[in-house]
Amino acid sequence: MDFNDSTEEATFRQEARDWLKANEPTEAELEGLDGIEAAKLWQKRKYDAGWACIRWPKEHGGRGASAIEQVIFGQEESKFDTPEGLFTIGHGMCAPTMMAWATEEQNKRYLPKLASGEEIWCQMFSETAGGSDLAALRTRAEKDGDDWIINGQKIWTSGAHYSDYGVIVLRTDPTAPKHQGLTYFFIDMKSPGIETKPIKQISGGANFNEVYFTDVRVPDAHRLGAVGQGWQVAITTLMNERASIGGGGGGVNFKSVFKLAQTVNIDDEPAIKDKSVRRRLADWYIQESGLKFTGYRSMTALSRGEIPGPENSIGKLVGAPKQQDMASFALDLLESSGAIWDPELSQEAGMFQATYMASPGIRIAGGTDEIMANIIAERVLGMPQDIRVDKGIPFNEIPTSNS
Ligand SMILES: Cc1cc2nc3c(=O)[nH]c(=O)nc-3n(C[C@H](O)[C@H](O)[C@H](O)COP(=O)(O)OP(=O)(O)OC[C@H]3O[C@@H](n4cnc5c(N)ncnc54)[C@H](O)[C@@H]3O)c2cc1C
Repeated sequence: MDFNDSTEEATFRQEARDWLKANEPTEAELEGLDGIEAAKLWQKRKYDAGWACIRWPKEHGGRGASAIEQVIFGQEESKFDTPEGLFTIGHGMCAPTMMAWATEEQNKRYLPKLASGEEIWCQMFSETAGGSDLAALRTRAEKDGDDWIINGQKIWTSGAHYSDYGVIVLRTDPTAPKHQGLTYFFIDMKSPGIETKPIKQISGGANFNEVYFTDVRVPDAHRLGAVGQGWQVAITTLMNERASIGGGGGGVNFKSVFKLAQTVNIDDEPAIKDKSVRRRLADWYIQESGLKFTGYRSMTALSRGEIPGPENSIGKLVGAPKQQDMASFALDLLESSGAIWDPELSQEAGMFQATYMASPGIRIAGGTDEIMANIIAERVLGMPQDIRVDKGIPFNEIPTSNS
């Protein structure tokens, strides 16, 4: 493991830092913009200056830089208060799938607008019948001339309500075993027959949706991979999903809980003096350090031009529950005021409450804790696979509660 930047990496880091300092959007620029407008403004600014999607080839709207440079820019950007989050799925998951499976003309048409933030993409994989077991999905596509006709429903689609395009996996052959009867497409979210219904979350927001498809037409030219090859294409998206979502992102961390424990009292003494508080903090410090050094392993691999190993699954499996735990503990420390969630009144503008409300979702999105543990057990530790009773059986012969 190498903790230091190489000379070139240090130069790149300084260049990125200088540009970010000079170009971070000011409060006046963001005044009156909603979250989407603000994120688009920032993305376009990065794109125009060659700092968007750093690792992508230049002809696709990127900088043609290395994976480690992409990480370095992300590290530096996270130190600034810039609008974020809107493009994680499009840039981190849809674009790498397009690069691997779409035609050159399609990539020329779609990727630069994705890089510049002009168009937003979403990922339509999950269904009520197919979440962790994605290959159990039922939304179907039937061939009709040069088009396919889609009927069914997706769920939990983040950002569907403001997306221009989406990637989607559909069942095109119900008589084949479940992994073999799938085909992958990208689709215009404004197509007639698509109805998007936001789902209200415990946080009060409505960031993900139910998406209904009634006789929606998608051209065969928007198919990625061969008919029946959808599972392999989906794997490209999922591999990139693991790499692009981490273990909780922003919000509560060790530093913020430590600071809180110095600020609030238990029995008229600062909470930080309480032994049980110190023990909890020490545990989280150890976990956070472990995650940091595990992150360095990925950085070292990237720096050497290698592909990081299982570190990403470990990061999410440890990081997401840790964040939920810390947010819950912070609310306990705040006693009755922990129940007040108001940016004007609450400590740290309500950040502890916001993280607490979002944290169960982080443990589910992009693979639940149990699925992450299965991946580590099977693919890292080489333990026996989960029992798969439906292996090799035609999808339409797998028993359901109605059969
Ligand atoms: C905030 C958020 C954003 C999301 N955004 C998107 C999106 O943009 N696009 C999209 O397609 N989906 C999205 N999802 C959906 C997400 O991918 C699924 O919720 C997730 O894959 C789990 O599927 P499920 O909800 O159907 O749960 P299920 O798969 O039904 O799981 C239920 C429970 O059973 C456990 N379980 C299931 N299988 C196993 C197993 N083999 N071994 C042990 N335990 C198991 C799970 O861990 C879980 O505790 C999002 C979810 C969240 C919370």
